[in-house]
Amino acid sequence: MLAYRLLNAQTQPEFQEILEPHAGPGQVVVKVAGSGLCHTDFTVVSRERSYWKDDPPPFTLGHEIAGWVEELGTGVKGFQRGDAVAVNPSWASCGRCHMCRSGEENHCLYQKAIRAPGVGYDGGHAPYVLVPEARFLVLIGNLNPVEAAPLTDAGLTTYAAIKPALPGIYPGSTAVVIGIGGLGLYAIQFLRQLTGARIVAVDSSEARLKLAREYGADDIVTSGAGAAGQIRELSRGIGAAFVLDCVGVNETLATGVAALSWKSRLAMVGAGGGSIPFDFFKVPPWRPAGDELERRQRCVEGGPRHGRSGSDQDPRGPLSSQRCETGVRRFQARTSRRSRGGDSRWIGSTRGVIVRARVLLTQKGT
Ligand SMILES: [Zn+2]
Ligand SMILES: [Zn+2]
Repeated sequence: MLAYRLLNAQTQPEFQEILEPHAGPGQVVVKVAGSGLCHTDFTVVSRERSYWKDDPPPFTLGHEIAGWVEELGTGVKGFQRGDAVAVNPSWASCGRCHMCRSGEENHCLYQKAIRAPGVGYDGGHAPYVLVPEARFLVLIGNLNPVEAAPLTDAGLTTYAAIKPALPGIYPGSTAVVIGIGGLGLYAIQFLRQLTGARIVAVDSSEARLKLAREYGADDIVTSGAGAAGQIRELSRGIGAAFVLDCVGVNETLATGVAALSWKSRLAMVGAGGGSIPFDFFKVPPWRPAGDELERRQRCVEGGPRHGRSGSDQDPRGPLSSQRCETGVRRFQARTSRRSRGGDSRWIGSTRGVIVRARVLLTQKGT
């Protein structure tokens, strides 16, 4: 069969005829439907020979694979020929530690190096791929395996960053995605499906920001010195509950940290190599305090949706509906004055808060 292979470290990959694989005990041959390409492929090609230790080239590239089960080795149970499957690329995982057992093989405690199909092992840029253990296969049912292939890396990377953050991304909060490439577009879709947050996309490219809107972003912000301020303004001064940095350079990290709210989370999946100082007073930055903001927070967070009484939030207790309405009316009056200066977003935000505050107070029966 014809395969696209890295023959030597730091050389241009080439097409090469190789033998079709066959499944030994416990192994599975998958007929490849889709094999994704991403930035990792460039990294793999650029590695020095010494990096590969016991797994040097030649090997077939392609680490994002989905297809159909072609051949089952002896002892493999739970799969049939023709099953549509995605291939978990964490092939250096042990399968026994608590990370592996909880489905996080990518965080295996005992993997000695990053090894995967196309990264030290023969990968998916070929008609067939030999999967060394059946545990790396995930049944995908009716999902089109061509479209499912990038889920195994680009999709999983962003999903694994967003899933643990979900308890903090409450409805009406703000979630920010910085860098709208392949990862960023997956992130926007996951956030749209899994949360009720306002999604803000940040990028330097107008075309990318347009794409972000098409994929579900509520607001777009051009990256740069003013980006964090715009995010804070869009979030009514509160800041972002979650920031996903898909770039990872100094500038994007600075934007992400400056946009954070209290008890928020910044996750970095971009391998840009940037860093930022971590400081008790700077992460997250002090929010701009204001009586309107405090009143609005108490209206929204004093309700039962947070699973506790308002007295846990504020020693003065939750606001009564009358006090809340009074506060909101005062806030409305101030923002109306501001809006005459031309900023209509303040009015839109205020209306959203009034609705939520009333709903919460109704639920509480006050
Ligand atoms: Zn990849
Ligand atoms: Zn493990």
